[in-house]
Amino acid sequence: MRRGLQTPLQLIEMNTLQTEHINRLKLQDALERGYCPHGHSSEANDLALLIYHLGGANLLYALNQRLHIPSLRTLCNKTCFVKLTPTISHITVNTIKENLQTIMLATRMNTGSTVTRCRGVSLMIDETAQEEAAVFMPKSNSVAGLCWTHSHGVNTSLNTYQAALNIVSTLKEGSVHLGKEVTDGFYPLLAAPTCKTEDVVDMEYIYNTVMDGWEQGGGGEYVDIWSFATDGDATRRKAGHKVFLQTKISITSPLYGLLANMPGLNLYTGNGYVMLNFNYKHIFKTQIYFRVLHTSAFMRRHVP
Ligand SMILES: [Zn+2]
Repeated sequence: MRRGLQTPLQLIEMNTLQTEHINRLKLQDALERGYCPHGHSSEANDLALLIYHLGGANLLYALNQRLHIPSLRTLCNKTCFVKLTPTISHITVNTIKENLQTIMLATRMNTGSTVTRCRGVSLMIDETAQEEAAVFMPKSNSVAGLCWTHSHGVNTSLNTYQAALNIVSTLKEGSVHLGKEVTDGFYPLLAAPTCKTEDVVDMEYIYNTVMDGWEQGGGGEYVDIWSFATDGDATRRKAGHKVFLQTKISITSPLYGLLANMPGLNLYTGNGYVMLNFNYKHIFKTQIYFRVLHTSAFMRRHVP
């Protein structure tokens, strides 16, 4: 975060310049004490949320005292905050279970969502760019941000000064790396820093660990997993074929009669009838890429 480079008020001002969607006038009014929301409208709550994310709890407290912006407690009562547990060191079932409970199950219960067994979910895997940096995690007293595939070779706990020096030296040696991207999803069950060196076996491990964590964490009691969607990455797709195209639906299954003669569809699934799927965003991207490629090749060939 750039919190240390500018003051929180400068951050807010900078954000108003960059984002059209923010109500710039009211924000400026608030800074000049011309806007004092009392009824805690949705706009005031949005403003408080923005202040909290940009300047933290201290700035929100100061503006709450000075300008009657909704307090953090009010915000917590009206907004559903989720806390993602990032993966530190190797990916484990426990991390999946914890995130499943705090992010999906608890959130849906708090918002009054009805979760029924007749509804299914599709898990998706993708990567999001992240700032390459090691960060201190007070809750576990350890260092996060190291790639999950190699961080098992270093002690990430920060119990001594020497432990910090050891992490620095292993980073310099190259035996562990800072994560370039984070593997995640909409209800994020997993946020694991990756140095993008995973092979098919690593990906199979991720799929199986997520599925095991889902079942062990109680996800299966509320919602069935229908499919697991991968992005366009060839390694993830190959692992997806291995994990989710391994069992052919039995001829005695009621589904067999429905699906056996459908052209273009196969009868293979993973455990628990979980099917392999593809994130349509990446399919569209591939289509557009080929169309653009085809068009440019056509233009080169036929247009002088
Ligand atoms: Zn690595």
